Amino acid sequence: MQALAGSETASTTGEAGFIRIEGVSKFFGSFPAVREVTLDIARGECFALLGASGCGKTTLLRMLAGFEIPSAGRILIDGQDMTGVPPWERPVHMMFQSYALFPHMSVAKNVGYGLKHEHMSKAAHAARVAEMLDLVQMTGFEDRRPHQLSGGQRQRVALARALARQPKVLLLDEPLAALDKKLREATQFELMAIQARTGVNFIVVTHDQDEAMTLADRIAVMDKGRVLQVGRASEVYENPSSRLVAGFLGTISQFEARVIAASEGTATLAVPDFTVDVQVAGDSVPGETLTLALRPEKLFLTRDRPTSGNAVQGVVRDLAYFGKDSLYRITLPSGALIAVHAVNARRGATAPDWDDAVWIGFDPGSAILLRD
Ligand code: ATP
Repeated sequence: MQALAGSETASTTGEAGFIRIEGVSKFFGSFPAVREVTLDIARGECFALLGASGCGKTTLLRMLAGFEIPSAGRILIDGQDMTGVPPWERPVHMMFQSYALFPHMSVAKNVGYGLKHEHMSKAAHAARVAEMLDLVQMTGFEDRRPHQLSGGQRQRVALARALARQPKVLLLDEPLAALDKKLREATQFELMAIQARTGVNFIVVTHDQDEAMTLADRIAVMDKGRVLQVGRASEVYENPSSRLVAGFLGTISQFEARVIAASEGTATLAVPDFTVDVQVAGDSVPGETLTLALRPEKLFLTRDRPTSGNAVQGVVRDLAYFGKDSLYRITLPSGALIAVHAVNARRGATAPDWDDAVWIGFDPGSAILLRD
């Protein structure tokens, strides 16, 4: 498949500041929906705005599209200040959650609709429609109406229509929300492949962390109109900047901990139920209070006390069996709960069961320490 004419492939990406959002705020009356957001998005990047409902992600997307005007700050795309530029003159296209296909038009007409102001010859128009349908693997469906398609197929037609005009930036608002779980997973990979092939910047709004982590090169985690952290999925997951970000991405158990001893690179922490050694990146001082955060997959369960690393004793309170793996919730003596993930790698192995006494082990390097 060829890259869209006039666009660059993802391999030539990396130009910082292709999309610049500079100190952008948006007030609805006195309510701040978006607060002082500054972001730099590189050419060809797939970027996700991730956050709970109402955190301001759609409002930010709508400001990029030109449907909302910032109360403060400005947006530049490819060096051009978007202030005062109406939506139809911006090099962006917004794909709505509902897909907004015309029900009375065929698939081909829907895809071609966006080209009607492009003054193309009939042949060029037909060629572009065919190219787009090929891109989203919908060749052969030209004459169907939207109601004769599955949810996933409608999503692909909407994507073909959005890409037909060769936007520099495609804005996708919860693009996979209408699809069921299995289809959503398959479609995530298709979207990634199409993004890589076309080199068009994708900015995806989602409240689904798995979707953001699968699709995006980088993620901005938002809360109450602010961007809390920006980074690659692995950075945001492994090195969250705050308790809020840590709690938003994946399952995590958090404990208030006091530093009782510290030397270069390591610290001993006291939590009501246990004392552990952890690696620390910066300085920590005895007496300091911080948050110890533990991801379930960095912990392991044993019946006997582990002979090295940290060991914490508890009792199995809940057990969710998913086939390939299980998620345990272990009660500590104080009543606090800790989540532990276990891979069911061996068939017939006897795993800890409800009410069993167990040990939880983990390496000093796998703990996350948070000060905010
Ligand atoms: P969701 O995932 O539910 O779509 P979101 O993160 O996209 O949420 P926004 O739609 O950007 O959130 O809304 C952010 C906040 O601004 C919300 O509290 C919302 O009620 C408010 N808001 C959005 N649009 C308007 C408007 N036109 N007038 C007044 N308040 C608005």
